[in-house]
Amino acid sequence: MIRASLLLLAITCAGAVAAENPGQQAAEPVVFAALAPSVATLPELPQIPGVQTRETKVLFGSRKRRKGAVCGDIDIKGVEAGDIAGTLPGCGASDAVRVREISGVRLSQSALMTCGTAKALKKWIGREVETAFGRRNKVVSLRVAAHYACRTRNNRPGARISEHGRGKAIDISGFTLESGETITVLDGWKQRKTRRKLKKIWKAACGPFGTVLGPEADRYHRDHFHLDIARHRGGAYCR
Ligand SMILES: [Zn+2]
Repeated sequence: MIRASLLLLAITCAGAVAAENPGQQAAEPVVFAALAPSVATLPELPQIPGVQTRETKVLFGSRKRRKGAVCGDIDIKGVEAGDIAGTLPGCGASDAVRVREISGVRLSQSALMTCGTAKALKKWIGREVETAFGRRNKVVSLRVAAHYACRTRNNRPGARISEHGRGKAIDISGFTLESGETITVLDGWKQRKTRRKLKKIWKAACGPFGTVLGPEADRYHRDHFHLDIARHRGGAYCR
């Protein structure tokens, strides 16, 4: 039914627009044409009154899951923050978001970033982070050491603007597990029990993020992972 009426709507609208603008190619029908196939590819299901159909579920998700979602992704929860103006030349971010949770994993503080950064974070969390310390003791929260900050690299005077100043970076200093325990980068990197797991997490960030710095990179990163989405010509830079 939906398929048929949408198709009819598309045809009717295309006809109406074409009639109004006989001399020019109308752009509007394209919108309907783009909408129609996505519905049309879904299998026909019997319509039961009062029951949410697969079509409506697929297209709109459940209301509860969508609540508080940003970046057009139901797994990224937060609030839209709009454009951030920088206090130094080269700083600032457009369409920024304040993220508090990704794929059910909370951030220890709401972190300001671009959607590109939030999506990279989601990829990383889903790839290795969540189950790094065991499927029965999942990571439930990331300790955020830094997010958006208009500053130079490593806060050195005269250095280039950090990716933190563009909303494209986040620093993670620890992982809190279901059990309540927090594995910090500073201590966990030195301990035999956690070192290998933390290294695996660090490595997994390489790809979703273009720059990944950990305790072995330099003295500035002994206690956190710096992750940013800057892309480098030679591929991801991970140290
Ligand atoms: Zn950083």
